[in-house]
Amino acid sequence: MRLRPHHALCIQKFTGHGYDDRFTEHMTAICETLRNSPETKVNIISSCDELCAVCPHNLAGKCATLEKVEAMDAQVAKALGVRPGGALPWEALASQARKNIFETDEFIKICGACQWYDLCRTTKI
Ligand code: SF4
Ligand code: SF4
Repeated sequence: MRLRPHHALCIQKFTGHGYDDRFTEHMTAICETLRNSPETKVNIISSCDELCAVCPHNLAGKCATLEKVEAMDAQVAKALGVRPGGALPWEALASQARKNIFETDEFIKICGACQWYDLCRTTKI
């Protein structure tokens, strides 16, 4: 599965809220796949990924908030020690994200300005 770095966070904190019904349905299915098959290989990419595929903010293959998203991706990639082109099992990526971001000050530094932050902050994994 192809994912951009910061989606390793969003997938774990997802509680059924998305940009629109299509996006939410799609993301629900992805989260279920990863929950049921944690060994799924994740290819880290720096462009539109599996979640972006049906996002209303995906404008012809380019995120409408690209600057913000690229900054988050860079911060997450650094904190997790991953880079575009790399690959690892979902369970390893998810666990690194919990240890290096959710359980540290990196969480507010990376996600503090996101519209979903208050929801994600209070969502238990
Ligand atoms: S706060 Fe935003 S970027 Fe961070 S995990 Fe939640 S939805 Fe994703
Ligand atoms: S297109 Fe942009 S806003 Fe939509 S899921 Fe992808 S990164 Fe997020």
